[in-house]
Amino acid sequence: MALKALDIYKLLPKKNCKECGEPTCLTFAMKLASGKVKPEDCPYLDENVREILGASTRPPVQRVKLGVGERSFAVGDEIVQFRHEKTFFHEPGIMTAVSDLMDPDSIQAVVADVRDHLLVRIGLDLRLNGIAVWSASGSPDAFATAVEAVEAVAELPEVLMAEDPAVQEAGLAVCGNYRPLIHAATGDQYREMCALAVKHGCPLAIRAPDLDALAGLSGLCTAEGVSHLVLDLTSPSLHDMLNQATAVRQQAITRTAPALGYPVFLDTRPCGLPDAALICGVLKYGSVLVADPLSEASRKALLVLRQNIYTDPQKPIQITPGIYRVGSPGPDAPVLLTVNFSLTYFTLQGYLEASGTDSFMLIVDTEGLSVLTSVAAGKLSETLVRDSLKEFAVPDLVKHRTLIIPGYAAPLSGKIEDETGWKVLVGPRDAADIAEFLEKEWT
Ligand code: SF4
Repeated sequence: MALKALDIYKLLPKKNCKECGEPTCLTFAMKLASGKVKPEDCPYLDENVREILGASTRPPVQRVKLGVGERSFAVGDEIVQFRHEKTFFHEPGIMTAVSDLMDPDSIQAVVADVRDHLLVRIGLDLRLNGIAVWSASGSPDAFATAVEAVEAVAELPEVLMAEDPAVQEAGLAVCGNYRPLIHAATGDQYREMCALAVKHGCPLAIRAPDLDALAGLSGLCTAEGVSHLVLDLTSPSLHDMLNQATAVRQQAITRTAPALGYPVFLDTRPCGLPDAALICGVLKYGSVLVADPLSEASRKALLVLRQNIYTDPQKPIQITPGIYRVGSPGPDAPVLLTVNFSLTYFTLQGYLEASGTDSFMLIVDTEGLSVLTSVAAGKLSETLVRDSLKEFAVPDLVKHRTLIIPGYAAPLSGKIEDETGWKVLVGPRDAADIAEFLEKEWT
């Protein structure tokens, strides 16, 4: 079980010497319990205590990285069973499957599509993550040719799916430096697969008939020197897949089975309901998801679902405060003030674009709170508006001195006028009414 702050405190030297950068040992204990500092930050811990604290404060689901370069991604590092307890940290990688029975041109078309596909939502780029190359032929040469075809198009993270060590080795000979996930070690060949993972510095997926056997295999692989493991819980039954993934997360989080404290791999293709398996994988607890090429509708839905689940509910998505242009605004263009909650920004921007009015948007820092909340919480204030006008040099952009504020900020209008010297127009509460408002009020 994870130690609580007071349990940790009992193990500390209690010198209150501040050498760790914290004012007291108790503060250090509290930060250590929440993962904000490391045991090594205190120079006075003996080896035994450091080991105890290290084991108990390490994330219960180990972090594993796939790929190298810009498109590489990490999974794991999760600390809760349910998203509402805190947040989920690393969204699952969606890997599109190609087989070594496909001709190289067809493989490359799939890879190019995964490389180039992009969905922009609330200002964030949502992408598919990589390619799973599957040895359907059982031939080392065919596998190597398929991996080469992938490599020729893009440096995307890969899963090399071949359980015959000789076939796996042929694929790794082509892309071992790119840190693919090796899939998969089993009870029969784990020594050879571990040797390949160690040789190429790659993470390793492991597969066993049940969770007890999987925990045993995990121990055997770590004893062989492979610490970056991924647990394959693929099953033809959606029910079994979900049950097992939930049990693994539960046992990992409570640290009742540390050998299962690794990210989960789900190949959705053998499942009778592959689309449902993908959705369940995103919701409950897949970290690497393999799927056949998806339709545009399916992948949009999946990327949006993943973004929603892996957005921290305690931290609204924010955009950077500043001055933003809609169209080509000149010195007579209106200046509309709003907050840096992304949804507010993009909603207003969309309606302004639709209205065809070239304008400036002055986005102020309310820590991602909406207009209504930031007014109620005192985050949106006349001094913030004054400072933002100055910081973003708005008086240099326009000849007039008129600021349009959101309808929900109406109680601040007088104070903003007094503090800034600008005339304030109170805009509509609903951004959908902005075109009509500008037509009537902005001359
Ligand atoms: S360095 Fe160690 S002993 Fe000193 S205050 Fe920090 S936790 Fe306490």
